[in-house]
Amino acid sequence: MDESNLQVVPPDYIIIRPPVEGASHSVIIPVTGGCSWNTATGGCAFCGTYKGMYGVIQNYAVRPIEDVFKDIDYFSEHNYHGFPVFLAGGNPTSAPTEYLVKIIRYVREKINNVPRVSCYAKALDVLRKSDEELNQLADAGLDIVYMGLESGSSKILRKMKKGTNAESMITAGKRVLRAGIKLSLYIILGLGGKKLSEEHVKETARVLTEINPTIFRFRTLNIVPFSELWDIWKRGEFTLLTPVENLKEERDIIANLGVNVTSQVYNDHMSNYCAIESSNIKEDREMFIKTLDTFMNDPRIKSMPRRNLSRM
Ligand code: SF4
Repeated sequence: MDESNLQVVPPDYIIIRPPVEGASHSVIIPVTGGCSWNTATGGCAFCGTYKGMYGVIQNYAVRPIEDVFKDIDYFSEHNYHGFPVFLAGGNPTSAPTEYLVKIIRYVREKINNVPRVSCYAKALDVLRKSDEELNQLADAGLDIVYMGLESGSSKILRKMKKGTNAESMITAGKRVLRAGIKLSLYIILGLGGKKLSEEHVKETARVLTEINPTIFRFRTLNIVPFSELWDIWKRGEFTLLTPVENLKEERDIIANLGVNVTSQVYNDHMSNYCAIESSNIKEDREMFIKTLDTFMNDPRIKSMPRRNLSRM
């Protein structure tokens, strides 16, 4: 193979991936560029990812399949066998199902012993696909999708311009699971600010109870430059939570979950104020709540300043 022609990552390509894919040294294969929601509408109010936060603005595009195949050939020929594969892009599930199926099958054919194939998914993309298409993705070997629930409150989702409401999130989540694809949901602590904190807790617990996802993961809101929320916050129209208030939201979400919820729970993002995890929240609920109560009452955490990260 002539490596001088190989374009493993297209120019100006912004790669974001869940921390777990970094920790597992996943092979990252760009499939789409940017985010279709961002390009079409200006995107979610809290997100600056493709708007200049990483130094470039990236519009949505689906990569030519031949280029994606070249990347897969490269990783196959350079002995990247045995690693998970992450199909990169803000929402690769926006691409046609037939295109994705061909890519996933090619990954499975060319790279040996891939323990996991995953990608980000937007609920709107899932809703646009039929059950049959979701089944095709599962049959091809898509193991898990990472979806931003962010909040179970329709009011907060509307303010944050997420493009989905609580009920459509529930429908999308259940359909992913029914197709046999594992579902990891992200929740952003503090996304309602001080004003909508209670609503955020109550509605997020309700939606998680309805879906019972395979995994849910907490992140903590940091307001990033280039996002619409940055301007809202600068005008004094949004109040960030303190570290203790963020921990309390997490505690109360766990306390309000229905008894049916058996999800794995992680705090595996650098924005969080704790790192507790559970392989089954039904079994670990009391431990989770007690640990968070202890943290919230710890004077060192009470006086801890907010971490202001420039990225989410
Ligand atoms: S949060 Fe996700 S869906 Fe929303 S604009 Fe950013 S990349 Fe797109």
